[in-house]
Amino acid sequence: MTGVLRLVMGDQLSRDLPSLCNLNPARDVVLMVESAEETAYAEHHKKKIAFILASMRAFADELRREGVEVDYVRLDDPDNTGGFSSEIARAVRKWRPEGVAITAANSWRVLAMQQGWEAELGLPVTMLDDDWFYCSNAEFSDWAKGRKLLRMEDFYRSMRRRTGLLMNGREPAGGRWNFDADNRKRAKPDLFMPRPRAFPPDEETAAVLDLVEQRFPRNFGRLDDFAFAVTRQQALEALDGFIAEALPKFGDFQDAMLVGEPWLYHAVLSPYLNIGLLKPREVCERAEAAYRAGAAPLNAVEGFIRQILGWREYVRGIYWTAGPDYAHSNALAATRRLPGFYWTAKTDMACVAAVVEQTRDQAYAHHIQRLMITGNFALLAGIDPYEVHRWYLAVYADALDWVETPNTIGMSQFADGGLMASKPYAASAAYIHRMSNYCDGCRFHPGHRTEADACPFNYLYWDFIRRHAERFTGNPRMAIMLKAYAAMDEGLKHDMARAAERFLAELDAAPYEAG
Ligand code: FAD
Ligand code: SF4
Repeated sequence: MTGVLRLVMGDQLSRDLPSLCNLNPARDVVLMVESAEETAYAEHHKKKIAFILASMRAFADELRREGVEVDYVRLDDPDNTGGFSSEIARAVRKWRPEGVAITAANSWRVLAMQQGWEAELGLPVTMLDDDWFYCSNAEFSDWAKGRKLLRMEDFYRSMRRRTGLLMNGREPAGGRWNFDADNRKRAKPDLFMPRPRAFPPDEETAAVLDLVEQRFPRNFGRLDDFAFAVTRQQALEALDGFIAEALPKFGDFQDAMLVGEPWLYHAVLSPYLNIGLLKPREVCERAEAAYRAGAAPLNAVEGFIRQILGWREYVRGIYWTAGPDYAHSNALAATRRLPGFYWTAKTDMACVAAVVEQTRDQAYAHHIQRLMITGNFALLAGIDPYEVHRWYLAVYADALDWVETPNTIGMSQFADGGLMASKPYAASAAYIHRMSNYCDGCRFHPGHRTEADACPFNYLYWDFIRRHAERFTGNPRMAIMLKAYAAMDEGLKHDMARAAERFLAELDAAPYEAG
């Protein structure tokens, strides 16, 4: 009889996984399943599917090299029944283990499946908590208890104090918690831009690319230039590259956007962090060490650590606090269908076209592109937030439910009514023009509000303020915008409302062209 059957899922690819601790290679078996259900719960980008499957296969090989028995079920295995529950049942019949060890899933959907396994399998199932995050669910609940507002900045400071990261005794390094005021520089195309490390596919990854092309020919994205890291070793090389080359300028150009420069000084580490190839602790500690050694300035390192120790941990806490129905929140009652150009990039709005094209090619866009271009447009145009959520869940290599849902529903679409964000991330063309060079090649004019070539972000922005004025009255962070709108000439208001109406009517009438 086999000892323990130990399940490793596609976003749990770490040797330190709790369900792999105490592994006894002489008796235990590791089960890994390429599940058809998992490749189909969203219309995943081809690169996202390939990245996860190739990383799973590489991880299984690493375990085998250690002498571990791995029962690896490939997607195209004729016996593969397609789901975790049915595959674990099949493996139990095959191996007849004494028990099963699993690490709690990072999504409500898979967790619900896991909770039924002990009864379904009729043998002990030990579910262990994932311990990779700095903040456990229980610790987040303690922090949230009794607070009216769950603000990221308060959470982040508490995490800095708790971990000691970038602290000098009880004081934050440099005397300030946040250096964002230094981090809003506009990038110039002639700056030196480091490229994230690229990893040409080995034989096994090439086989995965063929499989994905065959099985998912209609999915969004392309595979010909696939270059993601798929092993821990490669992910560590990607981290080294970021710390040495991009981190020093991460802060300065964190909010900038440039045509043809998808990465700027961003880390491009989220896919690796999210599936277990890198750990948040080692990434933050490397960044802090670069600051202490004088290799990167404080504004860059603080900004970067805030993304991981602050935002990443915070959105995970929000995901588990808000509950399984959070993705259906719709506080602004937005009902419009997601326009087809989110898949085709066929739009005259140069900024939206550039971000969708980049997303299609790379399965990557940096935070400001996601938040202030595609997210901002959807918010202003009143797109159904659930449709927006389904799009974000599909198109990025790093898109997992726990991190994507709060970012989309809460931060980007304000659909939770302000649980996460104190005000909507809504902006007119002035912001996009200031932070990017997209407008240079656009048929619309970022300074025009009602003329024939007026930028849609302008009239949609003011129309958004008009539509939701009542809701936002009393929100101190919206007061300036509401006051500015109230003081506007009535003729201008009328013309902008008509322009928005016309634009949205055309959007609704456009034939839906997907993928
Ligand atoms: P960098 O800008 O270099 O930041 C460093 C790291 O900080 C990232 O690798 C990431 O792990 C973390 N981070 C930064 N911002 C956030 C954030 N808001 N939430 C969580 N972690 C953060 N991130 C995902 O990992 N998966 C998603 O599915 C996802 N969906 C998003 C959807 C929307 C609408 C928005 C606005 C943001 C989303 N983000 C998501 C957050 C963020 O955009 C990405 O983490 C980031 O762009 C990844 O690129 P990077 O590694 O170059 O990040
Ligand atoms: Fe985008 Fe408007 Fe600028 Fe065109 S003018 S790139 S639509 S912000």
